[in-house]
Amino acid sequence: MTDLTARQAELAANLARVEERIGSACVAAGRDRDEVTLIVVTKTHPARDVRLLAELGVRHVAENRDQEAAAKAAECADVPVTWHFVGQLQTNKARSVASYADVVHSVDRPRLVGALSRAAVHHGRELDCLVQVALDAESETAGGRGGAAPGSVVALGDELAAAQGLRLAGVMTVAPLAGPYAGDPAAAFERLREISTGLCTRHPAATMVSAGMSADLEEAVAAGATHVRVGSAVLGERPRLG
Ligand SMILES: *Cc1c(COP(=O)(O)O)cnc(C)c1O
Repeated sequence: MTDLTARQAELAANLARVEERIGSACVAAGRDRDEVTLIVVTKTHPARDVRLLAELGVRHVAENRDQEAAAKAAECADVPVTWHFVGQLQTNKARSVASYADVVHSVDRPRLVGALSRAAVHHGRELDCLVQVALDAESETAGGRGGAAPGSVVALGDELAAAQGLRLAGVMTVAPLAGPYAGDPAAAFERLREISTGLCTRHPAATMVSAGMSADLEEAVAAGATHVRVGSAVLGERPRLG
């Protein structure tokens, strides 16, 4: 076996295990499997893994750093995948991200809405955007890993819905390491679902709920996630960043 086919066999086996977990979680929750979309987080892994994943049927990949994502998306311009951006985003990177990303999961402040809107219009593209919710503290201050306070989600959603070049698609969260939901992803994802329900009363099309990673995808599916973001369970442990 060449290195490439060995890697593809490894990815195929990992994907099968993740698929099995998602399937079981859907059965347990009484949900149809097609209500949950798998997004494979390819950050720190090379563009050739994106190609191998696409050959295995993966249609959604995610990245969290613009520089790496821009290069990888360019190398994979011919690969039929949807690119998701899930990392903290500085406004000065909006122009770049809007050139290749199809979905931005990490919108957490009004200035970023403005920057992404101008960038999308510049590139003549329409971006699906999610409000990233920080559940670290149920207060008006956002947590360290980015995210809007729960109380500001509706206002930010209104801004996204009104912005040219952007579509409000839903909400996203990362299970918090601190605050009332630390160590309790099930409760965090239930809270996200409540926030999503509130947002959908004003914006019925904003149905996307992005939650759950390798360690907690079952809890996310149980709480109604429509998209799970899985990295290490598919690709293996990430090489350490230098
Ligand atoms: C890296 C990352 C993931 C995937 O994490 P794993 O634990 O490797 O599955 C999901 N979401 C975000 C925002 C990430 O940065």
